[in-house]
Amino acid sequence: MSYASALKRSEVLEQLKCKTFDVLIVGGGITGVGIALDAASRGLKVALIEMQDIASGTSSRSTKLVHGGLRYLKQLEIKEVATLGKERAIVYEIGPHITTPIHMLLPFHQEGTFDKFTTSVGLQVYDWLASVKKEERRKMLTVEQTLQQEPLIKKQGLLGGGMYVEYRTDDARLTIEVAKTAIELGAIIATYTKMTNFLYDEQQKVCGVTVQTLLENESFNIQAKVVINATGPWGDTIRKLEQQPLHKYLVQSKGVHIVFDASVFPLQQAVYFDTQDGRMMFAIPRDGKTYVGTTDTFYDGDLSDIYIEQEDRVYLLAAIHSMFPTVDITEANIESSWTGVRPLIHEEGKSPSEISRKDEIWESSSGLITIAGGKLTGYRKMAEEIVDHLVKKFTDRKLRPCITKQLPISGGEVGGSKYFERYVIRKAQLGVRYGISMEESTKLARYYGSNVEQVFAYLQADHPTLPKILYAKLQYGIKHELVVHPADFFIRRTSSLFFDIDTVRKYKEAVLDEMQTILGWNAEQRTMYEHELQAEIVRATTSI
Ligand code: FAD
Repeated sequence: MSYASALKRSEVLEQLKCKTFDVLIVGGGITGVGIALDAASRGLKVALIEMQDIASGTSSRSTKLVHGGLRYLKQLEIKEVATLGKERAIVYEIGPHITTPIHMLLPFHQEGTFDKFTTSVGLQVYDWLASVKKEERRKMLTVEQTLQQEPLIKKQGLLGGGMYVEYRTDDARLTIEVAKTAIELGAIIATYTKMTNFLYDEQQKVCGVTVQTLLENESFNIQAKVVINATGPWGDTIRKLEQQPLHKYLVQSKGVHIVFDASVFPLQQAVYFDTQDGRMMFAIPRDGKTYVGTTDTFYDGDLSDIYIEQEDRVYLLAAIHSMFPTVDITEANIESSWTGVRPLIHEEGKSPSEISRKDEIWESSSGLITIAGGKLTGYRKMAEEIVDHLVKKFTDRKLRPCITKQLPISGGEVGGSKYFERYVIRKAQLGVRYGISMEESTKLARYYGSNVEQVFAYLQADHPTLPKILYAKLQYGIKHELVVHPADFFIRRTSSLFFDIDTVRKYKEAVLDEMQTILGWNAEQRTMYEHELQAEIVRATTSI
């Protein structure tokens, strides 16, 4: 059983207590796990601690796109667009089960932000900067073609549209797949383990951290030669523990997405459109739902307790009504929502949308390395940069060069994106032997990629209260993907809380029962986890 099993937790904690690591990463979002993977693949002894579940922070609350950042062209962030565009293609290659190319429609209207010329040139520059494959390059559409693609778009003043390709992802699953790969390469990863302070050597250099385990309520030290602060929006909270002046600092920008059932918002085509205040927004169809976002407003509240607010709903609904005037929806139709905060590097006098999404590496006089800013899409490159910086500190050893461009992430060993569909069909035929339909089996193969046979193995059991597939996903989640709380499963391993809230409501008791049996919770723990899950349901479905 691998260290990605929740049942191995006590062994993982033992390893943290007794070893001295080359690198200790604080934060299990995409940035932290990306660094853990890169560092482990080069031969460094790596540990990572995360105070919640993997991807509990911003990395499960994004727009869920691996994208080149077309909008940054407007701000002339040419280098950023070029890097993100190229990274997009790499992530697709190493994880085709987690990145799906989708056509994105950019309509333009009279008096809108874009016209035919700027859209055409903008998309062409984007193709060029991001080295977009020939078959995925932009196409310009007439008014009729635009409406054929998406009949819900506002007809009044419509001048045409541009079509280009972006990649849809599941941010939390991308993060867990990268974490699993890091574990396979020897990294020790502990969730629900919070860093509370730094340890310093005689030269006042950071040489480890003190942690508090949040399941066992135990405190201990972890020794490491280098500590990396990859805590995203929490970055300055960690840096302030050092009690040194901060020359640069982070600001948070809140972003909200709302979800509708396709029966009330039957979008057939992903659309990138401009809003009433000149910002850009996405509307994306997914699994029988349509989600729309995002907002972009400064936030300085509690990072662990972020809610959608009434003004967010009003703003998003106004944007929908303006671009899709025949869609008759109100607040009552919002099925679910999520809210995240972007960790941005402060730039004086700029609004949240104007601040660059670039990343920077900061090193304090104690040797603490902080990675600030960045995007989900650029995680691999950020990790490569930071580990390139890191290896200079280990001159006593010969470390391997970076290999993550060619290294499939967990589930991505399918022979490359070109062969993914063929792989899915082959594996789906296997799944049918376990008594599920071809459609269900195909869905599972697409979701878990080259790990799907491990999931199929759990289909054998008949469960009295859980449907076969949900049971298999839960077993796999606990035994291979660090699921320890029901919210880990329903939010970050299956996205059910956002895209299938009915399943959460229907099976939450059965999932709690099964988890109690496997993980040996007492009655008090069960009640605690039940309340926690209920609070997450309220957070996703209720406005304050
Ligand atoms: P996080 O994911 O926030 O991870 C930091 C982790 O550190 C957290 O899990 C936290 O629990 C942990 N932590 C904090 N303190 C401690 C401690 N003391 N001890 C242990 N652990 C600790 N990017 C894209 O590429 N595409 C998109 O479509 C996109 N859309 C976005 C939409 C929105 C609304 C937002 C907010 C962001 C979006 N982004 C997008 C940006 C992207 O989501 C973020 O850049 C990325 O997820 C940040 O990851 P991170 O690992 O740096 O931070």
